[in-house]
Parts: sequence; C-alpha cells; structure tokens
Amino acid sequence: MQNLGVEQQCLWCHQVISGPRDRPPTNAPLTHGLCVDCVGYLEGNPIKLGQVLESFATATVVVNSRGTVVGANGASLVMLGKAMSEIAGELAGNVIECSNARRPGGCGRTVHCDGCGIRRAFTETLRTGVPSVAIKARTYRPSADGTLAIREWVLTTERLDQLVLLRIEPAV
Ligand SMILES: [Zn+2]
Repeated sequence: MQNLGVEQQCLWCHQVISGPRDRPPTNAPLTHGLCVDCVGYLEGNPIKLGQVLESFATATVVVNSRGTVVGANGASLVMLGKAMSEIAGELAGNVIECSNARRPGGCGRTVHCDGCGIRRAFTETLRTGVPSVAIKARTYRPSADGTLAIREWVLTTERLDQLVLLRIEPAV
C-alpha cells in the first residue's frame, strides 16, 4: 500500500520503508511501520523488542501465537501493578485479570473466552494481520467484598509476524 507520497521510516533502523513486505503505517498503529528485516530481527530478540516498547508511553505487551505474554514495557507493568516476572509466560487474559482467569482452566481454556474482547483482539490480528484499533473490552475482577469490579479497557493491536503487540489503556 502506498502512503500518499510521505516517506516513512522504519521505527527501529530508520531506513525508508519501501518493500512490498515492509509494514506500512496503515497496518501498524503502534509502531507506525517497520521494515521486514527489523520485524524478523525484533521477533528473535525479545530484549531489543522491549527497548522498542519502552519508547511507547502507553502500556504495551507482546503476545505470542499461543496467547502468552512474552514481553511488556514499563508503562504496562506500572498500570497492571505487576513485575515482569509475574506476567512473563502467563496468558494475556490472566495478566489483565479477566474474570475467566479465575475459572477452572484459566484464560483461554473456558467456553466463556469465545466472547472475550481481549482474546479476540489479538487472535484476529494474528490470523488476519489486520490491526484492531481502539476496541473496547471489559474485565470483571472480584473485590474483597465479593462483588465484581468492572474495568473497561481500550485495546489496540498490531501483528509482527507471529507476535502481536497489544496496547492496553483504561477507558475514560
Ligand atoms: Zn528497519
């Protein structure tokens, strides 16, 4: 896809994005474009990918094709109130505290997950390559008094080959 004559640079290497397999900004709401070499490089280098995420002011996690969190930036750890060691290797729904995460089997293994906006956002993006932009999702977190605290989120996704970047913002 042409980008209307505006020269776009790769977020990571700053080379001009031009090849047919490069990721044009229209498909890249979070990175605003990466060249194909850098997608391959970052996918195999989670530490470097983390450095890319640190340049984002908003909470962003990296989810693999199994729905497992493999990276997260500092903003997301602050927002979720968790350490990287607590979320690495966990399913995304568990990390964001979906109510289904508390059910037997946890996130992604209950029938309820068919309707889960969080799961749907990244599985659709992984399948189609089409980003989700500012879609809404809800989680239900049990409170100390036994009631469910509803939290609303705004999610944006972007696929990097076999990984999905997932931006999580509290809905205002
Ligand atoms: Zn690049």
